[in-house]
Amino acid sequence: MAKPFYISTAIPYVNAAPHIGHSLEYIQTDAIARYQRLLGKDVMFMTGTDENSLKNVQAAEKAGKEVGLFVSEHAQNFICFKELLDISYDTFIRTTEERHFKGAQKLWSMCKPEDIYKATYKGLYCVGCEAFYTEDDLVEGKCPEHNSKPEEIEEENYFFKLSNYQQDLIDLINSDKVKITPDFRKAEVLKFLETGLLDFSISRSHQRAHGWGVPVPGDEEQIMYVWFDALSNYITGLDFASNGSDFQKYWVQANDREVLHVLGKGITRFHAIYWLGMLLSAGVPLPSAEFIHGYITVNGQKMSKSLGNVLSPQDVVDKFGCDPVRFYLLGAVSSYHDGDFSEDRFVELYNAHLANGIGNLFSRTVAMLVKYLDGVVPEPTEDIFNLEEFWKKYQNSMEVYDFPEAVKAITELVSTCDSFISTEQPWTKAKAGEPVDGVLYPVLEALRQIAIALLPITPKSAYNLLSQLGQNTDKIGVLAEECTWGKLAAGLKLTKGESLFPRYVAE
Ligand SMILES: [Zn+2]
Repeated sequence: MAKPFYISTAIPYVNAAPHIGHSLEYIQTDAIARYQRLLGKDVMFMTGTDENSLKNVQAAEKAGKEVGLFVSEHAQNFICFKELLDISYDTFIRTTEERHFKGAQKLWSMCKPEDIYKATYKGLYCVGCEAFYTEDDLVEGKCPEHNSKPEEIEEENYFFKLSNYQQDLIDLINSDKVKITPDFRKAEVLKFLETGLLDFSISRSHQRAHGWGVPVPGDEEQIMYVWFDALSNYITGLDFASNGSDFQKYWVQANDREVLHVLGKGITRFHAIYWLGMLLSAGVPLPSAEFIHGYITVNGQKMSKSLGNVLSPQDVVDKFGCDPVRFYLLGAVSSYHDGDFSEDRFVELYNAHLANGIGNLFSRTVAMLVKYLDGVVPEPTEDIFNLEEFWKKYQNSMEVYDFPEAVKAITELVSTCDSFISTEQPWTKAKAGEPVDGVLYPVLEALRQIAIALLPITPKSAYNLLSQLGQNTDKIGVLAEECTWGKLAAGLKLTKGESLFPRYVAE
């Protein structure tokens, strides 16, 4: 039986339209999900939308719409990522769904009674983050995320006794039982944990929540703090409420668990501390890993409405196509640190690696095959490219979510193939009546394996390449089979097909 692998994106607020930063996380998560499927695992890829936030109420009021209708319309902006960005999620949870309400309330009720208490809270609250901050968290008295002054708020709330779990959390993260990648984020979390944990508010008054959100079980006057309810999406979407089979199979898992959250650096604390504390209290198994990515700037600047540089995924895909956008976000943006999107660099990389790289290598090789061998794939010759080494590099990078390194392994292999052709000069050999099999076969077989490696990165183009190489794309096996040298069968007849990556010329 295939080994289960659970993976999630964070769930975005639906109050605003998606920007290129959302695409980064979806595409990274999708690449991991596809890679794990390629390894033969039974993947559950979950995403969704966070709809219980006060920000949605505010945005709906501003738009003059009923909140339920507003969030439904806006959830579509993310649901459509499936087609727009070729995101292969298996399930989508909207936190306004009944299964979510029931699951979030169940999780609350399962927390140890001594971990939840009611008290008056006075604190600095950022409406943008929907989070309380301490003076130490602020930068010059302002929210570091929003650069705005938080409000001072006093009310009755339920609190979660996070301090009960301080040592457990330190041990779990230190020992990599919950493995945080990259290492410097792990170090940040540990440093924060060692300074001591304050209890945090897990509800707000019905009034401050405008009655919108998940009611606290047994207390209708309180609505769950949006983070408490939102974080529980990772299990409510698996039908935690009724202890469903998906929850058992993908979250609980029998042994050697693989449960991975992908999230942005701004919400590290919620995932690496609060969420784990909540699960520990409720006696629910923890995620086994968290991958924390950076943010994306546009032409070196932080995206903001006031600067007018918010880049929409729809616009970028309309202009360049889905796979080139995926290739850029995975190959040219750091997985761990902040990265940048610039159109000049995009075009440069597209032309260098896709049009002149993979695309050109494929079209020239097939052209020579047609010219010298009537398009018929010759008998396999030996692997002169040492693809075992290539796969090692590629897999080691994919295992630690270092997509730029994985892409680099691919583009380096393409360059090696190009140099090999230049050195071997099959055209000279053909003229002299010498065989060209030993040049064309290895390059074609390397291209087949490059296409396999591209499946998680640029899925549609990878399938296109495999299909043009005469492969049955419905019958692609697991990586362990597909990386076997010589799978490209002799006798296949290839023809010059459509260009994989037409060269981009600026308008
Ligand atoms: Zn804020």
